[in-house]
Amino acid sequence: MEMRWNLAALYPSLDSEELKRDLEMAIHEIEQIKKWTELELNSSENAVRKIEDYLKMQISFLNRYNRLYHFGELTLSVEAKNEKALKTVERLEELGTELKEPNVKFQKWLSQISNLDQLIPTSPNLKEHRFYLQELVEKSRYLLSDKEEVVLAKMKNTGSSAWSKLQELLTSTLLVDITIDGEDKQLPLPVVRNMAYDANPTVRKTAYEAELKAYRKIEESSAASLNGIKGEVITESKMRGYTSPLEKTLIDSRMDQKILDAMLTAIRESLPSFHRFYRKKAEMLGHQNGLPFYDLFAPIGKVDKKYTYEEARDFIVTHFRQFSDRLADFAEHAFTHQWIDAEPREGKRGGAFCSNLHEIKESRILSNFTGSFSDVTTLAHELGHAYHGACLAEESILNSDYPMPLAETASIFCETIVKNAALEQAEEEEALFILENDISDAGQVIVDIYSRFLFESEVFKRREEGSLSVDELKEVMLNAQKEAYGNGLDHQYLHPYMWVCKPHYYFADYNFYNFPYAFGLLFAKGLYAEYLKRGKEFVKEYDQLLSVTGKMKIADVTKTMGIDVTQVDFWRNSLKLIEQDIETFVNISSK
Ligand SMILES: [Zn+2]
Repeated sequence: MEMRWNLAALYPSLDSEELKRDLEMAIHEIEQIKKWTELELNSSENAVRKIEDYLKMQISFLNRYNRLYHFGELTLSVEAKNEKALKTVERLEELGTELKEPNVKFQKWLSQISNLDQLIPTSPNLKEHRFYLQELVEKSRYLLSDKEEVVLAKMKNTGSSAWSKLQELLTSTLLVDITIDGEDKQLPLPVVRNMAYDANPTVRKTAYEAELKAYRKIEESSAASLNGIKGEVITESKMRGYTSPLEKTLIDSRMDQKILDAMLTAIRESLPSFHRFYRKKAEMLGHQNGLPFYDLFAPIGKVDKKYTYEEARDFIVTHFRQFSDRLADFAEHAFTHQWIDAEPREGKRGGAFCSNLHEIKESRILSNFTGSFSDVTTLAHELGHAYHGACLAEESILNSDYPMPLAETASIFCETIVKNAALEQAEEEEALFILENDISDAGQVIVDIYSRFLFESEVFKRREEGSLSVDELKEVMLNAQKEAYGNGLDHQYLHPYMWVCKPHYYFADYNFYNFPYAFGLLFAKGLYAEYLKRGKEFVKEYDQLLSVTGKMKIADVTKTMGIDVTQVDFWRNSLKLIEQDIETFVNISSK
């Protein structure tokens, strides 16, 4: 079976006439939109026709632009050194920013139309894009004057963006001094951090100690960088009229505080179960006082089972079919029609992702398949993303953009189908391995994410008063870890520098880039629990839910299935599934 994807459905090649023509057309369309906003937006006369025109132009442009961009980006992801692809992508990124000004202009104009709610039902086109239009209006209150917007955008290039580039540079060039097998070495940070998964306990501990020591070389510059970014975020969010940076993240996520509070309450209640898991794992590894941070990812149990690519496909398709024919047929189609690039090779990027190509109603998946069980679940995960795209295919491109907390719904759901199937078939040792892996992953998304939320909340609070010193940042991090991990971790061996190595704290436009992960996991688990309860009738509602994720607030999306995410009980039920896994794990491993 072919293990490389085929991108011909987008363009024949980077030099093709089709691509050149589309690029020219895209540039032309940008000019057109600019001119149009200059000419038409001086009065609110004929508002309906004007909105219709704008929507039409946007849709046409976005479809073309995304097609070009996806082709460049996907090519680059398997050919890192393809300069032509790189140039194309850079060119498109530049072009993309040119629309910011006319788009803001339209947004302001739209927000001044007082009877918009009455106008929308008079046009099918407006009606279809009701949510999109209303969101533009709602968000317009946080816009500044045209001049201020320009100044802010320019100052950010030398402010938060520069700080975050510095941080990336510091962590990506940091070399860690480490002694392995009696040999002194200098290794890149990711290589050393990856040793946390090593089967040899000495390697894990040595790597942890070397890693912590290495951060001293960059702690002062990292702290300056973090203080700079968080300070700017506070200033900007005040200028724009947000009550806090967290409020901005919630608005961007289309959810409100009540949902977050309900989820956090349930998470806090579940912590003792996770602590129990960590203490059990500690015991199995011979520790007395809870798990040292360096053994969080230590492998337990083992699997020797390897899958060929064909076996992986069969395994996934077979178990997807127990859920629905549509999902199974979809996955089969993706495998046979070369939507997947699974072959590891030089010049191809690591990890895995899925790109929804809404413009051609297809998706492409990149993975690096080596035959391990986790490679199989990764494929299932990415196929879930692709399936989400398929459920959105008939929606307008302006209704296909879902918020971060809903982004992992379909992927984790599909992953759960496959993992549960594997667990049912596994022998004891293998079952222990799968379970432990799964709980560890969940622990990262629940417990560690909770510690990150606590850390970031405290940093924002203190940053209001002034900069935080390195010692203060370390202290805040340790407190957050103690609160989240409780007696699950050995407090002698925590990780005071997590704020240096996690890039999320340094994205000025995405603050609290942590709780959406917990939302994603728990929402998918909650849906899975519903599926177990409702059986076949769930399937249709599930597809329907995925299809509206780009055009409703989160609470309304979940309501389509009768799920109320403002209720703590919904989150409790999701966490119960993980707690049951912990129970099973403790029982098997105590035998
Ligand atoms: Zn994902």
